[in-house]
Amino acid sequence: MQTADRLKKIPPYLFMELRQKIAKARAEGIDVISLAIGDPVEPTPQPIIDELSKEAYHPANHRYPTDEEKGMLAFREAVAEWYRTRYAVSLDPKIEVLGLIGSKEGCHHFVLAVVNPGDVVLMTDPGYPAYQASIWMAGGEPYRVPIRAEHGFLPVFDDVPSEIARKATAIFLNYPNNPTGAVANPQFFARLVEFARSYDIAVCYDNPYSEIVFEGERPLSFLAAEGAKGVGVELNSLSKPFNMTGWRIGMAMGNADLISAISKVKENTDSGIFNAIQYAGIVALRKCQDNISKMLEIYGNRRKRVVDTFNQLGWDYRPPKGTFYLWLPTPKGMGALELTTLLFEKAHVVVAAGTAYGQYGEGYVRISLTVPDDRLDEALRRIRATLS
Ligand SMILES: *Cc1c(COP(=O)(O)O)cnc(C)c1O
Repeated sequence: MQTADRLKKIPPYLFMELRQKIAKARAEGIDVISLAIGDPVEPTPQPIIDELSKEAYHPANHRYPTDEEKGMLAFREAVAEWYRTRYAVSLDPKIEVLGLIGSKEGCHHFVLAVVNPGDVVLMTDPGYPAYQASIWMAGGEPYRVPIRAEHGFLPVFDDVPSEIARKATAIFLNYPNNPTGAVANPQFFARLVEFARSYDIAVCYDNPYSEIVFEGERPLSFLAAEGAKGVGVELNSLSKPFNMTGWRIGMAMGNADLISAISKVKENTDSGIFNAIQYAGIVALRKCQDNISKMLEIYGNRRKRVVDTFNQLGWDYRPPKGTFYLWLPTPKGMGALELTTLLFEKAHVVVAAGTAYGQYGEGYVRISLTVPDDRLDEALRRIRATLS
């Protein structure tokens, strides 16, 4: 049987391969600790679960959620209210907000809504692998803009060749950044708006870690920048701030024409988010802010333990201030894959090789803080024994 050519360019999803490797070692009786995957282990807050349980009993919620095409208006209103209070961004919930089955889905549907076959789409290197896969699936050509430590892992727009910028129709950006942990700032947003405007490039600002920032960093939205709504959309998600990765609920906000184009793709693809989950999402946004502070404290403690461990081993490591990942430089002369393999074989600890995020990820590994405290401590103990 034939499978489509569009799938041939896409390497196996990084974490599928890792899962197989881990499963194999575990089947051999090895106690593997994975620090590779970013997926909170603490449960979803109780009020959200209670709301889902309650709403699941209402037959009205068992039907297609399509009565209002952009998702339930009540959910979109809660999103607009959250953006107003958290980021001082005003949104019209009727035309500038769209419910999503997660931000990953939104990225894919954004490309289908914006990109013609052959179009160039900009993204960073290193960058989130799903952007590249979506660009390829839509027939677009990814152009990877390097991001480097010396520029705070932010792209330098002046380094994008102007013939590439002219051909580009869209750009993906994501700060607080997976995988580097870097954060953006208002000056960068202003420059991004200017760049997007001068080359007529649609911005997809993927912001699922907006709330996961440390050491006095403020949560930021790209949409707070002047002119942002004129050039793009921001995606966000309840997955990371409310420990809801399995629930599949997120949102797109911003430019009304883009929102309506993405909505058109969605109407012909999925039929929206289960109503009971949208009600649960409203409870998350309105009543569960305390979960965010609780998780920031947990991640902050784990972050400190990892940083201290590596600094005791002789690293001089001062990580950027966002996300629940640490983007750790490998020792001099050691490649990303080499360190990953060493830690897997000697310590039975899995970290993600930086090269899985692009060629400029060489020289780094990514460590995720979404593991229980005792497992993290055990992993750090083994890492210390392996590397000292
Ligand atoms: C986790 C993650 C997502 C996926 O979020 P969902 O809302 O669960 O689909 C999207 N983008 C980036 C950069 C992520 O790290």
